[in-house]
Formats: sequence, structure tokens, C-alpha cells
Amino acid sequence: MNNLKIIQKGDENGNGMVVKFRLPSGLEIISLPTKNFYGGHWDLGPTWNYAVMGDRPFLVDSGRFGQGSHLVDMLESAGIQPDALEFVLISHSHEDHDGGLAELIALTDIKIKAHTVYDLLIRQYPTLAPQGYKQHFPAKCWHCIMPESFFKENCLGYHRVLQNLEVERIGDEVTVIGSGISTLHLPGHSPDSLAVMLNEEALIVGDVVLPDITPWPTRLEQYEEAAGILAPLYPEAGSIFGLKRYLDSLNELLQIAEQYPDILVFPAHRLYYRNQWNTIRLRERLHQLVEHHIQRFASILDILATEEKEVDEIVRLHFRESLLKGPGKLMAANEIISHAEVLVACGDLVEVKKHRYAVTGSKNFEEFIRS
Ligand SMILES: [Zn+2]
Ligand SMILES: [Zn+2]
Repeated sequence: MNNLKIIQKGDENGNGMVVKFRLPSGLEIISLPTKNFYGGHWDLGPTWNYAVMGDRPFLVDSGRFGQGSHLVDMLESAGIQPDALEFVLISHSHEDHDGGLAELIALTDIKIKAHTVYDLLIRQYPTLAPQGYKQHFPAKCWHCIMPESFFKENCLGYHRVLQNLEVERIGDEVTVIGSGISTLHLPGHSPDSLAVMLNEEALIVGDVVLPDITPWPTRLEQYEEAAGILAPLYPEAGSIFGLKRYLDSLNELLQIAEQYPDILVFPAHRLYYRNQWNTIRLRERLHQLVEHHIQRFASILDILATEEKEVDEIVRLHFRESLLKGPGKLMAANEIISHAEVLVACGDLVEVKKHRYAVTGSKNFEEFIRS
């Protein structure tokens, strides 16, 4: 990383590390990484929120629930009056990115911009929601795999806040939000993922591309429960959900990487981690991510080669045991299901019953992905 000035030192993983980056055009981006609490093998590191100091200064993301006031403190330490920011753009609906919104809007006059799907899915729809304890969850949380012990402690206050947010919607098309600054809709990790292109010299990518870690994909089946809300605008699940859509988003980024080979990438996690900078070379990183998924497809077909299996069995055979503790097991199942959905679409697997798969003998996936 060049042309940076450390304003406030953070810890070894970057927590609290306020840094000013100056792009060749003179545009300044300030990093504001706030704490995340996941630990062990699923540690993402802090959420890297950014202030973009263009003609209409704005913020990207607000950190997780409880981090909004730290974010405001960090802005002040960088010499930015929070009220000078016109809006906060939410990169996607995961709680480590929008959890701090309530505090942020209580402390400042900031407006919120996010993708249309974000605005739709943060609301409660008691008559469409799954019955039982999720009835008053926002729609984006209906599919959540976290256990009750987790959401009781971490999510209920957050759910209440979401319901009343006023959001200016950003659509699927490239949308100009400042001079030389526009958004790109890159769904797959989340149906509402937005990236921000800055003067063709930098990209803020949210969780679409991360260093070190592979962003987890959504499952196509997540669409089903929210179909009543989404279908008028998005009649096809695959247009916003699933691993196939994620890979298409990577392909859109690859075209940018080829056009602008030196583009700087600002990810939402691990820009700095374990005492070192993780610079992303976009083209190279995109190829690594695609290869990772190709290997996972191949491994799933191998595991199923001799007999059909349930998803839990595939999870046990595919992942190291240390990754399967607590919520890790559910995250692993999400991975296998999202990959199996693509393999079914390629004709390499059949789903003999819900989440039970058998091979067909073909291996079309590689050609399917590379094309
Ligand atoms: Zn995310
Ligand atoms: Zn994240």
C-alpha cells in the first residue's frame, strides 16, 4: 500500500486503525475498522468501513451493532465532522456492515442509501414470515442459521431498529452517487451487495472479494421464503441468490480488473491482519476464488462417487473437524448446499430428496464455470 498516512494506530488485526489513503487523482479514502466478535476459525477480523472524501463525502458501512459511536469517534479523530457526510451506503445486509446504523443516525444527520433488495428485506412481514419465533424477524433474517442462544443475545435490538430505517434505494444498474463515483450491484454473497467504483482507480468491494478468506455464497433456496416479497421485482431466484450468481459477479469484476489492471481494492475485512497489509491484486485474487470453488465442486463429486449422501455427511467428510464447532457446522452446510445447487444445475448431481444428493456420472461443472 502506498500513499497512506496512519492517523491512529490499531491493534495487530487492524481494529481501530484509522488510515488516510490518497488515490492518484487526489481523492481521499479513510479507513474506519470496527470490532467484530466472531473468533476462532471463523474470525473475519474487523469490519473495514470507509469514508470517501469526494465532492459529496460519504461513508460505506457502519460496523456491527454497538459500534456506531466508535465509528463516530474514529471519524472525529480523522478530522471529519460526521455531519459533513451526506450519506452512508450499505455494502450489503449482513449485520457486521449495517448493525451500527441506529447509533450512527442517532448521532448524526446522515441519510442511508442501499440496494433495493436491502430496503425490501429489512422490514417485517408477519403474515409472510415463517411462523414461530421468527415471525417478527426482518425478512433478511428468516433464513438465518444462527441458533437461538446467538440471536437472543445479539440480534433482537438490531431487528427493532431496522424496521424504521428510511432508505434511499439504489437499483441494479450502475448508479452515479458522486462525481466519478458509482455503484455496481454484485449479488451472490448477499442479494443486495453493492461495490463502489472510485474514478476508475479504486473499488470498495464489501465482502464480494476478500483477501485470505473466501466469501460465503448464498443458497438459491433462500429465495423461496422471501419470494412473496421479492417476486414482483425479481421473479428468478438466480438473479440475486446462489453461488452461480456469485461467480457471475466475480466475472463482472474480472472485466474491470482486465480493463484497469492496477485498480486498488478496499475489502470489508482483513485489509490489515496479523500485523500485515493484505493488498489485493484483483485479477489474481478472482482467479484464486474461482479455482477454490472448482476444487470444492470436484471434492463434492468425489465424496459422492460411490453412494448418495445427505448434506451433513458430506460436511463431515469435506471439512476438518475443527471447523465444525458451534455455528461452523451450519456455515459448512451452507457451503455444501450452495455448491450442490450449481452441480444440480450443471447436471452433475441430482437431489434425490431435500439435501440428499447422488452423482449422475457427468462432470460438466468445470466447463460450465470457466465459460
Ligand atoms: Zn457479508
Ligand atoms: Zn462482513
